[in-house]
Amino acid sequence: MMITLTRPWIFFISQQMEVQSDLRRFWAYAKLPLPVLLSMGMLMAQVTVADPGTSDDGVEVNTVPKTLFVVVDGIPADVIERVSTPGIDAVAAKGSYQRAYVGGEIGMPTESPTVSAVGYMSLLTGTWSNKHNVRANYGIEPNYAFWDIFRVAKYQARAITTGLFSTWTDNRTILMGDGLEAAGGYKFDFVADGYENDPAFAPALEDVERIQAVDLHVTTLAAKTLLESAPDLSWVYLQHTDDIGHRDGDSPSMDFAVRWVDARVSELWGAVQARSQQFSGEDWLVIVTTDHGRTSSNGKGHGGQSDRERTIWIANNSPRMVSPAERSAAIVDIYPTIVEHMRFDMPEEVAAQLDGQSLLSQ
Ligand SMILES: [Zn+2]
Repeated sequence: MMITLTRPWIFFISQQMEVQSDLRRFWAYAKLPLPVLLSMGMLMAQVTVADPGTSDDGVEVNTVPKTLFVVVDGIPADVIERVSTPGIDAVAAKGSYQRAYVGGEIGMPTESPTVSAVGYMSLLTGTWSNKHNVRANYGIEPNYAFWDIFRVAKYQARAITTGLFSTWTDNRTILMGDGLEAAGGYKFDFVADGYENDPAFAPALEDVERIQAVDLHVTTLAAKTLLESAPDLSWVYLQHTDDIGHRDGDSPSMDFAVRWVDARVSELWGAVQARSQQFSGEDWLVIVTTDHGRTSSNGKGHGGQSDRERTIWIANNSPRMVSPAERSAAIVDIYPTIVEHMRFDMPEEVAAQLDGQSLLSQ
């Protein structure tokens, strides 16, 4: 996939001044072919070394907040807790691991199907499906009035760079409506997606193995970009574990898939750690989570409101995270947690609609 990496790079050099002056304009004018990865080493110095921020109480803060969140699809909490996952454990060793829930409140308007796109959208908007309006993986018509976290990022007075590294292109084009005026226009500076729709990508592989190869490629590009360019807010989405869950259910192959994706988390965590050593002023929040559990009977399905389908988990590297004993966490709590860590401002009407609360305790 050198073409993918090289073409934007060459293009970037010719557009460099424009990029430096206004990243959003770059996206709007350049109309880059996708999939692309903008591997902009030179850009880093221009946009990611932000000025020190100011906290709510006016005290100058000498760190640059950064956030990476990772969604590994469809791994039940009991599985992640049973299988050896040294990558996720290494993240949680700096912070915590806790169970959490998806699906809203049973029997209430917020009750939401425990389906993938519904879960991502609840994370991305901090709201349940009665607000964001995503109830399935297809035929999706999101309500963009509930701003996604990347739109909030681009609302800031200071320049915030964003990255998306994803095995499902609809995450960007539909759920977040990247480029759509109704969804706030262009909001990603670094993108690696589209591979699952590219016939030239690993054509010899069968579906499940091909998606696994996409996950691997997306991880590689994400790790490289995190290390070299460190977008202020990044999302990595990996699908393989859900494919194996649907095919094999609870099984040794599912356990193996979990160990495999844990190694991808290790790659990403390694990149963040290497980056932190180089740039000690960066304050990284890393969150690893999943979008739903699976059925109790055999682990093949999901979508309903059983305990196992509703139970997810959140691993993170923050010593500030509330303990599960204090209150139970939900997927909608991740958005306000990121907002707090990133010291983002939000329009009042956006903040007022959030269904979650920050998980940071101080
Ligand atoms: Zn899923």
